[in-house]
Amino acid sequence: SSDFQTLADMCIRQAEVLPDACAFIFDDGRKTFRQLDLASNQVGRGLIEAGIKAGSRVAIIGQDTVAHYEVLFGCAKVKAVLVNLNWRLSSREILYILNDSEAEVLFVAQAFFPLIESLVSQLASVRMIVALKGAHPNWPDYAEWKTAQPDILPVFDYSADDAAVQIYTSGTTGQPKGVQLANYGFFRLMQGMRAGGDPWMSLNAADTVLLSLPQFHIGGLWWAVQAYAAGAAGVIVDTFVGWRVLQLIEQHRITKVAMVPSMIQLVLEEPSCAETDLSSVKALLYGGSPISAPLMRRAMETFACDFFQIYGMTETGNMAVCLRPADHCPEGSPRMKSAGRPLPGVEVKIVDGHGRLLPAMRSGEICIKSPANMLGYWKNESATAQTLNSGWVRTGDVGYMDEDGYIYVCDRIKDMIIYAGENLFPAEIEAVLSEHEAVAEVAVIGIPDPKWGEIVKAFVVPRQPGALEQRELIDFARSRMADFKVPKSITFVDALPRNPSGKVLKRLLRAPFWQDQDRQVS
Ligand code: ATP
Ligand code: MG
Repeated sequence: SSDFQTLADMCIRQAEVLPDACAFIFDDGRKTFRQLDLASNQVGRGLIEAGIKAGSRVAIIGQDTVAHYEVLFGCAKVKAVLVNLNWRLSSREILYILNDSEAEVLFVAQAFFPLIESLVSQLASVRMIVALKGAHPNWPDYAEWKTAQPDILPVFDYSADDAAVQIYTSGTTGQPKGVQLANYGFFRLMQGMRAGGDPWMSLNAADTVLLSLPQFHIGGLWWAVQAYAAGAAGVIVDTFVGWRVLQLIEQHRITKVAMVPSMIQLVLEEPSCAETDLSSVKALLYGGSPISAPLMRRAMETFACDFFQIYGMTETGNMAVCLRPADHCPEGSPRMKSAGRPLPGVEVKIVDGHGRLLPAMRSGEICIKSPANMLGYWKNESATAQTLNSGWVRTGDVGYMDEDGYIYVCDRIKDMIIYAGENLFPAEIEAVLSEHEAVAEVAVIGIPDPKWGEIVKAFVVPRQPGALEQRELIDFARSRMADFKVPKSITFVDALPRNPSGKVLKRLLRAPFWQDQDRQVS
């Protein structure tokens, strides 16, 4: 199966091969591959009627529903580029993305009616708004709008190189950037792997897959597309709630799961976790941010399944490096600290500040050449030129590679702490602090210091309020790492600021300390 070239191809051919198989399960409904094909034809027709052409941008905002997939495939079938907005962003950021992307049609879920109403007068390019669920006085209702259209589509000439989606980066380090991903980004890597006899996660039509990562990030979208391409049924999770996810796993006998570390944490902390039957789960894919060793150990105890860690980013069209099940040893293998090896067809190199190749074990910037790499940032030539060069993506992450080709991600270059000229990696310090049993979560940043340039500061969420003293944790750290890495101060907080992908927003933690000073990062 599945030598698909484009999303449109995939949608059309799955309807021929598996017409009545279940493609999606949601709330209390189900849709087959044929239904998705027909509905997306109608969406495509409606978009053409609204003046959408090849290369036009279409936006959608709202928690994941099956309509998101109808719109995704509808866009693909008329060669429009879908911009799926992260609904947790502020109205200012949403306005920025709608105007930056030059979206012409906007699909809005009911919960976001007031937000979009408040922005309407400032929308520069949107010509039509469709209400996804719930009646709106001015905007056509999605179901009515869709069903008014014929379900047969004119024939288009699809190309793997056409842009399919424009995904804005998580904005962990700054203003989100619109990453243009082509159709090939969803398929070429997997096809190469399959041709080489690599079963990877062996996704297949017998699988029932949990779609708990939001579609507005490449991780979630990519995972959903891989499931669709395999003919698996995808269970759509609209908002991630631990007990609800556990219920869905048990109820639908879910076989394969993808989560970011903060989701794994939520699930494991759920009181109902111990009583939930998780035996159907065969494989768990995780990644997107570092995972602490204690969390990993608990996850492996709870889910007795294969674990796959992936490392990649929006710009590399999702996963580029993978740590396989065989490298997941419950106790103390050094490989567990690694993000794994480049996938077949992917090249990784480590370079110094001048772009020169570094030997094994030397840390520098991780660069990735993947068959899924982006076309480029949208309308941002200078950022594209800085990031994408001769097919290589500069990740902005520091790391090294060992003699066996395993990649170790140290941290983001922008988060590095420069203490008296020495580079410190917050992730390494966080890993040590999180080993303390009273620590639930931790984030380490550099704050300005007149003598040393920057000094180490930690923010800690204790397991129980007041359960931990600064002194005790500093002593704990001192016994486990070099003195200059030990935090000079610790602030206990109730929660860490995170973006919707669960990543800690260190720029928010840093801001109060850096108010009138520039941070020098190499
Ligand atoms: P922005 O680019 O807007 O600051 P972002 O980099 O967080 O946001 P994404 O493309 O979603 O946006 O995330 C990619 C980044 O996530 C990587 O560059 C890396 O820093 C981190 N990451 C991804 N996978 C892993 C992993 N397995 N281990 C450690 N870090 C990871
Ligand atoms: Mg990034």
